[in-house]
Amino acid sequence: MGELEDYVKEAISQGFSALGFSCHTPGKLQDVWHMKNEDFPYYIEEINRLKILYGKEIELYIGLELDYLEDTEELVGNEFLEHLDFTIASLHMMRHAKSDQYLTIDGPMNEFRTLLSDNFGGDIKKFAAHYFALQERMIESYSFDILGHCDLIKKRNSNNQFFNQDDQWYQEMTLNFLERVAAKGARLEISTGGIARNSIKETYPSPEMVKRCAELEIPLTLNSDAHFYPHIAHFFPEALQLLKEVGYEKVDVLTQGEWIATPIV
Ligand SMILES: [Zn+2]
Repeated sequence: MGELEDYVKEAISQGFSALGFSCHTPGKLQDVWHMKNEDFPYYIEEINRLKILYGKEIELYIGLELDYLEDTEELVGNEFLEHLDFTIASLHMMRHAKSDQYLTIDGPMNEFRTLLSDNFGGDIKKFAAHYFALQERMIESYSFDILGHCDLIKKRNSNNQFFNQDDQWYQEMTLNFLERVAAKGARLEISTGGIARNSIKETYPSPEMVKRCAELEIPLTLNSDAHFYPHIAHFFPEALQLLKEVGYEKVDVLTQGEWIATPIV
């Protein structure tokens, strides 16, 4: 919500050195979540205009959040790479076998429940295992700058209604996943977006996973995934505090077009 320029002004007023935009990619998924194909030229043009207008005050970057699809194994939006300064690769959907349609993991609760019951016979362990396996497949197949919200599977798990993140099976699954991420050298985001929108009470990934990330020396970048410009730095102080507590001294920041490990102040 708000014009792109509102985010730029807000970022400048909060002392950001750089700001990246990452709308949901246009392309083949023309649904309510994704940018309409006809809006993409404006997106590029407008950010380029803002880059010139505010270039002395802040570095601006054009990004997109790309979507991995399990049946075709494509990363939707990868075709726009030449226009982009950075990419976030995310998994939001799974193919619902019965209807042969994609349903969201993080969208309406009934979609999550339908995937759980129809694709996995109600077994949340199988659902979670498939979720992390798909992300691993995406990491193996594609290069990108940031892996988005890598434990999104917990979004619809309020009050631990499907699983407990402290369960041993979940701990093992997420640790194995992070070991694959580390082996591949991928960068994760620590995202505070779910907190600002009141859908979850913690960051993606969870504090426990962030601790593992530190042990595995996985590079992190900080992202508010703001959908409303006043939320641009929501929960950043707490997230940075968490990073410091688990041993991070630096986070990756896009600087003059390069990802630079930058000391946390
Ligand atoms: Zn996302």
